[in-house]
Amino acid sequence: MTPTTAVALHAINADLHCHSTVSDGWLEPGEVVRRAVANGVELLALTDHDEVGGLDIAAEVAASLGLRFVSGVEISVSFAGETIHIVGLGIDHRHPGLLVGLEQVRSGRDERATRIGEALAAVGIHDALQGARRFARNPALVSRAHFARHLVASGLMPDVKTVFEHYLARGKPGFVEHEWAALEDAVGWIRAAGGIAVVAHPARYRLSTADMARLFDRFIAAGGEAVEVVSGAHSDDEMRRFATVARQRGLLASRASDFHGENESAVDLGRCNPLPPDLTPVWSRLI
Ligand code: AMP
Ligand code: MN
Ligand code: MN
Ligand code: MN
Repeated sequence: MTPTTAVALHAINADLHCHSTVSDGWLEPGEVVRRAVANGVELLALTDHDEVGGLDIAAEVAASLGLRFVSGVEISVSFAGETIHIVGLGIDHRHPGLLVGLEQVRSGRDERATRIGEALAAVGIHDALQGARRFARNPALVSRAHFARHLVASGLMPDVKTVFEHYLARGKPGFVEHEWAALEDAVGWIRAAGGIAVVAHPARYRLSTADMARLFDRFIAAGGEAVEVVSGAHSDDEMRRFATVARQRGLLASRASDFHGENESAVDLGRCNPLPPDLTPVWSRLI
């Protein structure tokens, strides 16, 4: 690649991780696309949690508006006692192996949601599951974010972040253990579907230095190729830390708002910082 094309590639306003009502976003898939266009996004991936049900309509709306669109998903994984998110980009979202895998991951959510409801009832918060369900537009995808919205709507807590701090984060009364997909399985489904696997918002994981190194060892050994360096969930220091990881590990770099909705996200669609110029954007492989 000549320096000129590398500069042009970096200048593309790519946002490669966000959510719709198909998981725990506030906007319908088409509304996400329209907002992205209004915000100047030039390359968008919709990456709902464990679900690809919004991709057809999102792609259709994107095509009608002339926005380049990438099919994506964010898969929940258990690793070293922590939940890790692996984003898949450029997937064939009709691939049978991927669909079976995602169905498995989703199947545990319902029973987990019941246990979260019970755990909250044990500390005096009753009918939380019923309340969370009212916020979950996709009944197969009840997320902690939906519980959090219900607790805010019921006046118990001022905002979603505070609900997590008091009730839903690990170690808090409404947190329940759950076994998500294995790392190698998630990366394998993404690759089988022709996609690129990306470690999402790595700074958010409470892993020891050794476990973080093991995460990247195993991710790369399984065929993972990229890391979110710029994320709506990263501070500037965290961005620099994972830029170093991308360099040391030879990983492609992604840029992503992780937008869920206007009042819940630190960064709006397409409003992320640029990638450090020496890193190779993951979208070099997507356009
Ligand atoms: P789940 O997949 O059901 O465990 O829910 C995880 C989702 O909850 C994430 O994708 C975020 O949307 C949301 N979430 C997790 N931690 C927080 C937090 N500290 N503040 C706000 N939202 C959070
Ligand atoms: Mn979410
Ligand atoms: Mn995530
Ligand atoms: Mn996300």
